[in-house]
Amino acid sequence: MTTNGMYQPKPEHKFSFGLWTVGNRGRDPFGDFVRQVISPVDIVAMLAEVGAWGVNLHDNDLVPIDATCAERDRIVAEFQKACKENGIVVPMATVSLFFHPIFRDGAFTANDPEVRAYADEAVKRLREAVNYLCEYNIDRSYGFKLAMEAKPNEPRGDVYMATTGHYLGFIPTLDHPEMVGVNPEVAHEQMAGLNFVHGVAQAWEAGKLFHIDLNDQNPGRYDQDLRFGSANFKSAFWLVKFLEEVGYEGPRHFDAHAYRTEDYEGVKDFARGCMRTYLMLKEKAAHWQADQEIQGILREISSPVDGIPCTKCYSKQGATALLAHAFDKDAITSKRLPYERLDQLTVDILAGVR
Ligand code: MG
Repeated sequence: MTTNGMYQPKPEHKFSFGLWTVGNRGRDPFGDFVRQVISPVDIVAMLAEVGAWGVNLHDNDLVPIDATCAERDRIVAEFQKACKENGIVVPMATVSLFFHPIFRDGAFTANDPEVRAYADEAVKRLREAVNYLCEYNIDRSYGFKLAMEAKPNEPRGDVYMATTGHYLGFIPTLDHPEMVGVNPEVAHEQMAGLNFVHGVAQAWEAGKLFHIDLNDQNPGRYDQDLRFGSANFKSAFWLVKFLEEVGYEGPRHFDAHAYRTEDYEGVKDFARGCMRTYLMLKEKAAHWQADQEIQGILREISSPVDGIPCTKCYSKQGATALLAHAFDKDAITSKRLPYERLDQLTVDILAGVR
């Protein structure tokens, strides 16, 4: 029998939330705000209370877009003090290049050169803009890494970099590709009807999984940013299983919002729920790996057959043997592939009956 204590977040889990997530006031496209403004300093205290490790921010979440330098310095100093007092780190920061009406035709890709210049003080489009930021990063010795987050639509109907795969194709064309990776978000890939775990796995394989945004989403809807694991529980399970088994060591950032029904006590329930679900699924992943019947099925469906030429790496001799090999299609087709049983065993584990 498991205990609740097993699912308590600890700093080593690297759970983080954006100011815009737990500070989200519950407005949606057809409904007004339902929660009062909460200050970044109070958000930091809230995150410490629920057991989070880090806080992320957009530039304008913390410092208003028209703040003076003196106001900015005061706000940042107060925020840093709150983080220090509450033991909260800032593992990631990003920029809001979508909310203000100036970006209604895009930011780095806007047709108006003045908007592009405002977006990053560069004057060319996306590739040039990212190259510019990398050079700026080097020039200032910041040591930052940049993580690109894809989204198929919203705030406009078509977005150039619609999926993580788009960015994985784009990054090698940059001047400093080693400095740039991706920040896949569950909801954004699922909005496009894609398998999120596959996108994350591809990013990992490419050495580009710099960060990850965890939440949930029903396909075909607007960007819902639901509590992690609340809509597609099995998909969330495969994701956690993947991240834990490959040894992903980056932040587990929850880019999600509480329901519009909630006050800030409910927001704490939401934040605790995100972390609890992750830790429960982590435990279920270990349970899945330790299940003897599951392991038996995996061996059954993937065991090599004697006499099959090796295709792991190319050799002239191997290729000749492959061409000469007589494949028994009937025998191959008659091989049992018990995915139904495997899937039901997974469901049984997730349902807590196995
Ligand atoms: Mg996100």
